Amino acid sequence: MGIDLNVRNFSTDSDGLVIENPKNVKKAEKRLAKQQQKLSRKKKGSHNRRKQKVIVAKVHEKIENRRNDFLHKISRYYVNNYDLVALEDLNITKLVQISGRGLTKSILDASWGKFVKCVTYKAENAGKFAVKVSPKGTTQDCCICGEKVAKDLSVRMHLCPYCGSIMPRDYNAAQNIKLKGLEKVGWGTPEPTVLNTENLNTLAEIRTSILSLSEQVPVNESRISQL
Ligand SMILES: [Zn+2]
Repeated sequence: MGIDLNVRNFSTDSDGLVIENPKNVKKAEKRLAKQQQKLSRKKKGSHNRRKQKVIVAKVHEKIENRRNDFLHKISRYYVNNYDLVALEDLNITKLVQISGRGLTKSILDASWGKFVKCVTYKAENAGKFAVKVSPKGTTQDCCICGEKVAKDLSVRMHLCPYCGSIMPRDYNAAQNIKLKGLEKVGWGTPEPTVLNTENLNTLAEIRTSILSLSEQVPVNESRISQL
């Protein structure tokens, strides 16, 4: 399973499932902006300003709870249904256009980062794999033939002049993320039962990165020998 996290929706996966940003979070975010504006108009040190600060904090908390609930639900869905979940490494900057979306970059970053963490620790607990792959080329490359098909941010469809494939841009990206994930754990080879030392090293690296995110989670060593 490959998941593309994007701005237009929350995510698109390699089975074609598109998850929308939750509406109740969007609504609450609008309310937050309004209350924050009210706060900025209150006189410093005044009683009204203190009161308004409490209101802003409460709205913040509500958004946080709703978003966490959403992220836990979808990460649970993916870990329950797939043995391998591949996501883009968010530490490598992805070019995103936020303008006109009503969501700030920091809110998106926080949601995506939290989602990756949720998937990672849930996968580790379930003895499954969550891998982070480089976002390089995931949008531009054709997932069918591998040729580079340049497209700017406004182009929503992937139309490959080399092999003729047509699909939504985010779906093509999710496919590439999945392919990269399979390659990373060595499942993309024609004979996945053959394990060479190179694959073992890759797995050890992935496991290390998972552990650094949630150190208290026990390691399921049996997974490596099963491969
Ligand atoms: Zn192609």
